[in-house]
Order: sequence, then structure tokens, then C-alpha cells
Amino acid sequence: GAGGLILSFGEMLIDFVPTVSGVSLAEAPGFLKAPGGAPANVAIAVTRLGGRSAFVGKLGDDEFGHMLAGILKENGVRGDGITFDVGARTALAFVTLRADGEREFMFYRNPSADMLLKPEELNLELIRSAKVFHYGSISLIVEPCRSAHLRAMEVAKEAGALLSYDPNLRLPLWPSAEEAREQIMSIWEKAEVIKVSDVELEFLTGSDKVDDETALSLWHPGLKLFLVTLGEKGCRYYTKNFHGAVEGFHVKTVDTTGAGDSFVGALLCKIVDDQSVLEDEARLREVLKFANACGAITTTKKGAIPALPAEADVLSLLHG
Ligand code: ADP
Repeated sequence: GAGGLILSFGEMLIDFVPTVSGVSLAEAPGFLKAPGGAPANVAIAVTRLGGRSAFVGKLGDDEFGHMLAGILKENGVRGDGITFDVGARTALAFVTLRADGEREFMFYRNPSADMLLKPEELNLELIRSAKVFHYGSISLIVEPCRSAHLRAMEVAKEAGALLSYDPNLRLPLWPSAEEAREQIMSIWEKAEVIKVSDVELEFLTGSDKVDDETALSLWHPGLKLFLVTLGEKGCRYYTKNFHGAVEGFHVKTVDTTGAGDSFVGALLCKIVDDQSVLEDEARLREVLKFANACGAITTTKKGAIPALPAEADVLSLLHG
């Protein structure tokens, strides 16, 4: 269907994922090349649900960069916000699936093309046409992409877009935990919708309690919706006027990669054309139930992009 444009800003990369868990990539019998990068996952989550999205970021002018641009295109994501860097390569992540189910990453970002996006390379016309501007924070770490990120946000905001932020904390990418916290908090008050995971909430507050008081300590006056995702337990939501929790779904989880991005994509799809949802608790709870269902379905298949659901998949989980 139609609908306002959701723009997703940041990086896209390739994850090299071993075919078995409990060993490093070097010891694995084989590996898969899985396209990823949270902002790109969100863009595809949106189109798979029938919404309209565009990805804004930089890829290497190499085999991997063109492969990733092709995947966005196949999935109906607008590509006129993509630029290609002729000098630097596309970012790569080498993943270890630990026996306990957690993932460890080693990155090729040296620097990778995504970090070299310059403010003057932004497609401002595209950015001005967005109804929602969504971003993750990896592009805040270094110049020039930090300036490009801040400029894109400013342009989108001036044009009236809703700003949505998911910090996507990947600690190994930051020089230090302190710097990660500082950079995340430096743009905190620009966002009107923020989603963090329970792990990120603990990291950002320094508290080991995931409760309302801890969550509300991160509230800022311009915020319209603050979400804390709780894995299989669903999510908590906070607005100026009400707060509560929406339970998750029990599914057969095989790989949680992309669950948070799927959740965000679903949420943005449901609010892009009608932000009054954010002021109506009953409707917001319906939307969050839908987003929880999307996140849950995404954990039932390997990888992020292949596991993102279409609307029909979600409806069948919701209505049996
Ligand atoms: P992130 O992927 O950002 O770490 P979460 O793991 O909290 O975030 O997942 C986001 C959402 O996806 C959750 O709020 C929940 O709705 C859904 N989800 C995640 N993991 C599971 C799971 N194991 N079973 C069911 N739903 C899940």
C-alpha cells in the first residue's frame, strides 16, 4: 500500500555467519553471507509490511556494495539516497555464534565506506520528503559521517519529519563504553521516538534494574514515545500521559538477529500516517502488539532480512 515515506539512515553491511554455533568463523565448516546493518533491516521491515521506505547511506563501489544495493532494490526500498565510495570498501562483520546463543562480532571498518558519507553528498530532496526519519548511532562515531548524520537529521526535522532513534549499541565499535554513552546521549534529546533494549537501558543508566523508574530517568521533554524491548517478554512503553507493558509472543526462536529492527519497522509503519496513535493508549497497545508479533516472527528464522515478516504472517500469528 501507499503511505508516508520512512527514511532509514546509517549503515548496511555483510555479516559472515558460521553455519554452526559454538565455533569461530575460522573453525566453522561453512558460512553464510547475510546482508545486515540495523538501518537497512528497518528499511526492509517497512517495505515487507507494505510501507514505503528509503535507505540513506554510503556503500563501497565494490562487489559487496552493489550486492547490498541490489537487495534493497529487490525489496522495494528506494535507493536514491545511496552513494558509493570509490576509495573505501563496504563494511563487513565476521560473526561468532557462541554456544550460549549470543553473537560476537569482528568488523572490517577501516574505515569502511559507510563512515565516509559527507554532508554534501546527502540527497536533501529525498530527506525533505520523509514523514519519519529513523537512525541508529553507529554513524555518530566518526567524521565525516557524524556531520552527515547531524545535517540529515536537521533537514528532516525542519521539513517536519518525526525523528526516531534506536541506539543499536554494538560496544566493540566504540573506542570506549564511556564514549558510546556520551555519543548516544548527545543526540538523545533530538529524538521523538526512542527504542532501546533492556540491555541498552542498563548500559545507559548504569542501573541493573529494568523498571519504570530506571526507564523514566531517560525521559526528555520532547519525547513522544519511549520503548524498552524485553526480548520474548515483549516491551514497555512510556508517553507523556501513560505507560505500561505489552506482552510478547511465544514462538520457536532459532536466531534473534533483527528482532529489534523488525519491531521498529512495524511500529514506524503503523504511526507514519497517523501520529495520533501516540496519544491513544488503546490504539498504541494494538500497534505494539503488532510490533511484538513482528519481532517474534523474525526470531523464528535464521538471519535478519530473510526473517522479516509480511503483513499476512503477522496477522496469522495475531489471529491464529
Ligand atoms: P533487540 O533485537 O534490539 O535486542 P529485543 O531482543 O528486545 O531487541 O527484541 C525486540 C522485540 O522482538 C521484543 O520486544 C519482542 O517483541 C520480540 N522478540 C525478541 N526476542 C524474542 C523471542 N525470543 N521470542 C518472542 N519475541 C521476541
